[in-house]
Amino acid sequence: MSGPKTLGILGGGQLAQMMAQAAKPLGVDCVVYDPSPDACAKSVAHLVNGSFDNARQLRSFAELVDVITYEFENVPNETVDTLDGLRPIHPQPEALKVSSNRVTEKAFFESCGVPVGPYRAISGPESLRIARDELGLPGVLKSNSGGYDGKGQYTLHTDDELENALAQIGNTPFIYESFVNFTRELSVIACRTIDGITVTYPLAQNTHQHGILVRSDAPATVQMNMTEQAHSAAKRVGDTLNYVGVFAIELFDVGGELLANEMAPRVHNTGHWTIEGSNTSQFENHVRAVMGLPLGSTEPEGHSVMLNIIGEMPNPDILKGISGATLHGYGKAPRPGRKIGHITVNGPDRETCLGTAKQIQSGLRNTMPGGGVRP
Ligand code: AMP
Repeated sequence: MSGPKTLGILGGGQLAQMMAQAAKPLGVDCVVYDPSPDACAKSVAHLVNGSFDNARQLRSFAELVDVITYEFENVPNETVDTLDGLRPIHPQPEALKVSSNRVTEKAFFESCGVPVGPYRAISGPESLRIARDELGLPGVLKSNSGGYDGKGQYTLHTDDELENALAQIGNTPFIYESFVNFTRELSVIACRTIDGITVTYPLAQNTHQHGILVRSDAPATVQMNMTEQAHSAAKRVGDTLNYVGVFAIELFDVGGELLANEMAPRVHNTGHWTIEGSNTSQFENHVRAVMGLPLGSTEPEGHSVMLNIIGEMPNPDILKGISGATLHGYGKAPRPGRKIGHITVNGPDRETCLGTAKQIQSGLRNTMPGGGVRP
């Protein structure tokens, strides 16, 4: 391969780990940068250990690589500023700004003509009361930045719950969203090249518990116009940001109309099924896009159901006698609410995969934040 050969990844978690695994067969080596000396991606990539405000260490990292990407969206501005101009950064950091603030993100979707549910920016108790009057209850109050996997979120059904929330939020910026009575949650994984070609994977149907993804089922059974809506949303978002690499848009299906909930400027948990379930995984296509290589096909191979392993690793015997199931352990220490692995069931059709997944799920002891155990 001519051209760039070494990819630097900010963040050394499981997403960087799976990216590095996909990069190897392409002849691309990965160097990951992470504040933790135990970052799990070090099992497959060279780790540069340093904090995100350590300019000297960041510059040494940049010297080792040809191109820089990231596996998480909360990359501090100062980190980007330090790296800016040293090496090409894909996707371009503007995408981080859009997605790191829920209000900016919703306004951005609207500016691209991508439909979203009703929302209001909240700057304090008074604006929350106004939002309640304008949008009504129930609603979802979410911290504007920093929250993920359902953290920093309150679903408000009653005025009492609203008053309780008011007492807790102080003057930090929040967003108040009308509660969307969706039929189901879907997501689209897209990948855009340096030349502006956008491809999308078939939609995944996602199930969350406690705000955490537990299952993705793909390709979701959807009408053709929903695939078109999702592709067109992804294309508009990618083109507007001049984006390079993989990104995900989480969608609410409201009777066939898709509303964008949020975007992730990175490879995404709802795309893990593509490792076994697609011609080219999201990780490989991300590496291809940011390294300037042609993309691989996003055609599905049969049907896939991905189950997250949360908090506690199952006994590997859980898959004994089951065909078409692959266990991915990330090598992370178990902790309630922490994603430490996943299992993908791949087979000829949805029925078969869901049956197998159900069988496996009964043996999983996913421990959620707060210690609750969910099957
Ligand atoms: P988020 O952090 O925005 O991805 O929210 C986590 C989960 O909370 C989503 O996957 C939905 O299940 C639920 N949720 C978020 N926003 C809303 C909303 N406006 N209406 C109904 N459910 C929501």
